Amino acid sequence: MTGSRHITEEDLRFDREHLWHPYTSMSAPLPVYPVESARGVRIRLSSGEELIDGMSSWWAAIHGYNHPRLNAAIEDQLKDMSHVMFGGITHKPAIQLGRKLVELTPEGLDHVFFCDSGSVSVEVAIKMAAQYWQAKGVPDKTKLLTIRSGYHGDTFQAMSVCDPVTGMHELFRGVLPTHYFADMPQVKFHQPWDAADLTSFEELISAHHENIAAVILEPIVQGAGGMRFYHPAYLRGVRKLCDAHDVLLIADEIATGFGRSGQMFACNHAGIVPDIMCLGKALTGGTMTMAATLATGKVAMGISEGEANGGLFMHGPTFMANPLACAAANASIDLLLSGDWEERVLDIQHGLAVGLAPCNEFAAVEDVRVLGAIGVVEMKDPVNVAGLQREFVKRGVWVRPFGKLVYLMPPYITDEEDVAALTKAMVSVLRRI
Ligand SMILES: *Cc1c(COP(=O)(O)O)cnc(C)c1O
Repeated sequence: MTGSRHITEEDLRFDREHLWHPYTSMSAPLPVYPVESARGVRIRLSSGEELIDGMSSWWAAIHGYNHPRLNAAIEDQLKDMSHVMFGGITHKPAIQLGRKLVELTPEGLDHVFFCDSGSVSVEVAIKMAAQYWQAKGVPDKTKLLTIRSGYHGDTFQAMSVCDPVTGMHELFRGVLPTHYFADMPQVKFHQPWDAADLTSFEELISAHHENIAAVILEPIVQGAGGMRFYHPAYLRGVRKLCDAHDVLLIADEIATGFGRSGQMFACNHAGIVPDIMCLGKALTGGTMTMAATLATGKVAMGISEGEANGGLFMHGPTFMANPLACAAANASIDLLLSGDWEERVLDIQHGLAVGLAPCNEFAAVEDVRVLGAIGVVEMKDPVNVAGLQREFVKRGVWVRPFGKLVYLMPPYITDEEDVAALTKAMVSVLRRI
């Protein structure tokens, strides 16, 4: 088995010439590191070197890699069936997962749509909002309102609500639908609240609510659009304004869901319930691609009891509720709930805050911020990704920066020593910029 996984020079040449990696060029690709296995918080390169994982494979691998309980759940399910269509069929793994999600998410999100990836769950959420207003006989409510610095995925509707500057709006001008963008929140998570922060959002929603189907945003933590943490009162204000103006609220918890920000869901920091919630990434503990869109009774029944389209919600992915992915998600949630994730995340928060603090002194650093198991160093200028990555690998850690952001979001199982090793590598690499 191990032999077949060994990556040769020939393999790497094929990879370079034929395989696209995320956001890369086919003619001048960024270097890739050959990985043969991963276990716990260690990623093993084919050179035999082991790297401490600082990324959780983009928010996903919250329990670390190759977890015996997740593996066992997948193997068990494999013996019964790996997949069966969800059209006209149901199965236990989906029912179990649906129960868990209804139970775990904020009160009222009782209706679950399973889909393949985060971006698709955002498409599904937007489609729910659109179909809701059609069903209500309000056909003019078709636009979305969001806040700048957001990230919602790479499919077209998702891209259209990503930050218009750091997102891909320029590139896809004429293809992307246009929506409303409020200024990004300025009051940070830990700062005293100032209601003036909501002015831009309030102006837009009061001026355009007759055309706005939904507000979509990432609650509290803006991820790939800037790694910013804003004030819970902002989110409470958004909820109130949505209610006042008859606009649905979509919370994209794809990055934040399942404890990353220190609460099970980032919405919990503000004590609000969105009308629609997107989940993904950590849903299967980073083992398999799966996402879910949850809706309240108001939205689900609104769509279903309306005249439009016979009340049918028009989405149905081929691999909807894939049993293997459901089994992994069930095991991941059980594992999370049976452990002391809150304490773990708080310990990591403390380790990141203490360990990254020296970066505040560096001339090239703009800001250092930590919330839950997320530690961010924002540089003044965009970094050289390949160069920085080489330095991190040299120091035995896996950190993948983008733009001006160098950040850590380690698996929750990362112990004090490994968190310290990650932050030490960050300090040592960023000191030299
Ligand atoms: C990653 C992410 C997405 C997109 O998820 P994919 O699974 O990559 O399609 C959407 N929203 C947020 C907040 C994300 O972090």
